[in-house]
Amino acid sequence: MADTSGRIERRGLMLVLSSPSGAGKTTISRLLLERDNDISLSVSITTRPKRSGEVDGMDYHFLDLTEFNLMLNRRELLEHAKVFDHYYGTPQGAVEEALSSGRDVLFDIDWQGEQQLKQAARNDLASVFILPPSTEELARRLQSRAQDSADVVAARMAKAPDEISHWPEYDYIIVNYDIEDSVAQVQAILAAERLKRERQVGLMDFVKRLREWQ
Ligand code: 5GP
Repeated sequence: MADTSGRIERRGLMLVLSSPSGAGKTTISRLLLERDNDISLSVSITTRPKRSGEVDGMDYHFLDLTEFNLMLNRRELLEHAKVFDHYYGTPQGAVEEALSSGRDVLFDIDWQGEQQLKQAARNDLASVFILPPSTEELARRLQSRAQDSADVVAARMAKAPDEISHWPEYDYIIVNYDIEDSVAQVQAILAAERLKRERQVGLMDFVKRLREWQ
């Protein structure tokens, strides 16, 4: 079957981007979302305090621990994890609806979340791990992010080796030497993943019609 634009109907995919804090993942996500209208961000919930410049409902849904636990107990989260002393989770609601209507969903989540999504929905998932070009560059980027205190920067830097150790659990690895190159690489991954046979659910009918021509 084809959709209204005449394209073969396909199931959406879940694109996970993970990296140690400061490797550039948030910038890459933002640029990807600006440039591709078929993918939208899964807005996580978090108990972490809002940073200056962040918008509730766009960057995260900010809530307290009681509200977080309520959603967790009602089984409204696709995955959840504790990262840097705060809780984060992915609301289930919009995700399946997007996927079944052929729209892709971007997840900016850590390795714990990627593992849970992989267990829940391996066939819908493509995961990308972003590495910094060097430790010095990672430190520089974390320090230049003026929203965080020196303590927070030090804590995130200390956790980087641990986070980086999870790279082999991902489908694709990008070393973020240059933001534009990295965005182009994520776009290339997305383009190829969209063409996977099993995602193109309209192919059976499409090919059947092709073969009926005589
Ligand atoms: P930040 O506090 O800097 O926004 O995010 C800290 C870490 O938590 C990042 O690695 C980010 O990808 C991760 N994170 C954000 N939302 C979620 C989520 O819903 N689930 C999981 N597992 N990790 C998340």
